[in-house]
Amino acid sequence: MRIDIISAVPPLLESPLNESLIKRARDNGIVEIVIHNLRDYGLGKYHQIDDDPFGGGAGMVLRVEPIFTIIRKLQAERTYDEILFLTPDGKTFKQDDANELSMKTNLLFLCGRYKGIDERIRQTFITKEISIGDYVLTGGELPTLCVIDAIVRLLPGTIHDSESAMLDSFQTGLLDAPLYTRPAEFEGMKVPDILQSGDHEKIRKWRNEEATKRTQERRPDMLEN
Ligand code: SAM
Repeated sequence: MRIDIISAVPPLLESPLNESLIKRARDNGIVEIVIHNLRDYGLGKYHQIDDDPFGGGAGMVLRVEPIFTIIRKLQAERTYDEILFLTPDGKTFKQDDANELSMKTNLLFLCGRYKGIDERIRQTFITKEISIGDYVLTGGELPTLCVIDAIVRLLPGTIHDSESAMLDSFQTGLLDAPLYTRPAEFEGMKVPDILQSGDHEKIRKWRNEEATKRTQERRPDMLEN
């Protein structure tokens, strides 16, 4: 898979994409991630990328020209399966969306900033608009990282035990069951005996019951769906 990201603040993306599992996936050729600095395509001596909103009001808006230029340049180099814009008014991102996007070959992410981007960019290029939740962040970089992380961990080879990713919350239609590791007892708190019984069938059943109980308590909407 190849992922291109357009951002006015690349340092916000660089460190998280150069650590841990994502770094390993990049090093192993599972995913190629290229960050493009929007300011390189800015207008004039000061590389301007934003301007006042028509109609007045507070905040700046990302201009059309730099973004049209960079997206057209990238489109001339490859065909994108999706051009994604992370925005609070998009469809809320779910595990199913991560699953679907993990099957694609070329993805392009555009990170918004300030008040947002000129509507004509959305009308012309954007094929998917995603929100990561009902709250507003300062820019699209952190939401883009959330989505990329959710996608890349599903790519074969990123996680050693790929079955683990398939048993996480939401993949099974349930939240995950409680987890324990050594020591078996800590400050009077004991790990359930069944997890130490070695009886895999009983453990599987216990986990399923606990996951169902937890989902019922915390996310009954998931069971209704
Ligand atoms: N004026 C916009 C609104 O009210 O919907 C908010 C703009 S926000 C300050 C700047 C940028 O951050 C957005 O263009 C978007 O790219 C990103 N952003 C902020 N919150 C987000 C969220 N919950 N999900 C996805 N992207 C978000």
